[in-house]
Amino acid sequence: MDEEFKLVRDYLREHPGARVFEVSQATGVPASRIYNMVREGRLTATSTDSDLAVECIQCGKKILTGRMCAKCAHEFKTSLRPPAQKKPSSGGSRAAERVHIADRRLVD
Ligand SMILES: [Zn+2]
Repeated sequence: MDEEFKLVRDYLREHPGARVFEVSQATGVPASRIYNMVREGRLTATSTDSDLAVECIQCGKKILTGRMCAKCAHEFKTSLRPPAQKKPSSGGSRAAERVHIADRRLVD
């Protein structure tokens, strides 16, 4: 695996704009593994137009490396935080808890 990574990395160093199938042919590393390296953050695409660019798993936006765009990664981190650590609003107005009672209709 590390050998494969080195091959791909070195090839991309010499051919920065190479397409993934070219890298795959030149190095013998399957394209799926090359994309895995991008997902793992070991490889980084030079631009979002690059063949190496991948899509954010949340919103589908083109990203250079990793799994999520910066925005989704931030939202993901925030959502992982337990609710107890939520910052209390400084305004002082406590949001009243509202219970919505659905207007239920019986359908025969
Ligand atoms: Zn995203």
